[in-house]
Amino acid sequence: MSVEDLLSCNHFNTDEKNPHIIVNPDSCTGCKVKPCLTCCPAQLYKQDSSSGIVHFDHLGCLECGTCRLVCQEMGNGGITQWKYPLHSFGVQYRCG
Ligand code: SF4
Repeated sequence: MSVEDLLSCNHFNTDEKNPHIIVNPDSCTGCKVKPCLTCCPAQLYKQDSSSGIVHFDHLGCLECGTCRLVCQEMGNGGITQWKYPLHSFGVQYRCG
């Protein structure tokens, strides 16, 4: 079974009103490295090719914490919040 097949087995109960990760795209624009674009295993960080703005959607987050570790602007306004989802929200792994 491929990694993509395993990831597709996961179930997400997304807290639409209370995102567990908040990103400030203005700070990301000033980041020259943008490691989030390549390090997120769920590929949730996308850069608009014309404007250069980084877009992020917490739907599908695997809660691995990688973006928190690699963000060059953490503490300077890039990822302004990273916490685990509340209560029963978030990812439920089905295959380990
Ligand atoms: Fe992507 Fe992991 Fe960050 Fe979630 S915690 S957005 S899966 S890098």
